[in-house]
Amino acid sequence: MKEMPGRRSVFSLRMAADYRWKSFMHRTVQMKKVAVYPGSFDPITNGHIDIITRGLRMFDEMIILVAYNPNKSSLFTVEERMELVRTCLTGNNVRVDCSSGLLVDYVRSKGANVILRGLRAVSDFEYEFQMALINRRLNRDVETVFLMTGYQWFYTSSNLIKEAASLGGSVKGLVPDLVNERLQQLFGKAKE
Ligand code: ADP
Repeated sequence: MKEMPGRRSVFSLRMAADYRWKSFMHRTVQMKKVAVYPGSFDPITNGHIDIITRGLRMFDEMIILVAYNPNKSSLFTVEERMELVRTCLTGNNVRVDCSSGLLVDYVRSKGANVILRGLRAVSDFEYEFQMALINRRLNRDVETVFLMTGYQWFYTSSNLIKEAASLGGSVKGLVPDLVNERLQQLFGKAKE
């Protein structure tokens, strides 16, 4: 027959459980909710800013990660993209960084466990779903969280913005003013 624990051992079991609970609560209260929002941000648009602003209501801190592939061409350099993001966002709960490495490794290296992404149309869904699944397979501690686009940014994408601006179309109101200025410097003044 199993021996019943004595008064002493019941007491020390309770002490140990109490200690574990207190240290768990301490870690939970201390832990900041940090999310990483990765993208090419070539350039940052008002659609991105909407996701960041709303994301900051859920997370204590956000890292805007300018993810780049050295073999792919872009309109703005990584440094220019980072500078535009930095200038267009204020607040000390937002950081800007860049990386060309594995996203889940970056996320864990920053002590974060959430990847934030935005969803526009169904066409975004398939790609985003695959990305979320592969990232989950690569690291099960990292979760992808999606926010639906604000309806006024439904058709705003960096690629369409660049295309419209390069053909002389006005993208005012779809991107921050500074981005609009930079696009006009590159492509000439748009027809308003
Ligand atoms: P894009 O898709 O515009 O070229 P990124 O690659 O920089 O931009 O996208 C980074 C993330 O932001 C992706 O999750 C993308 O779906 C999301 N995103 C981009 N534009 C918008 C928008 N207008 N509304 C909501 N999410 C967006």
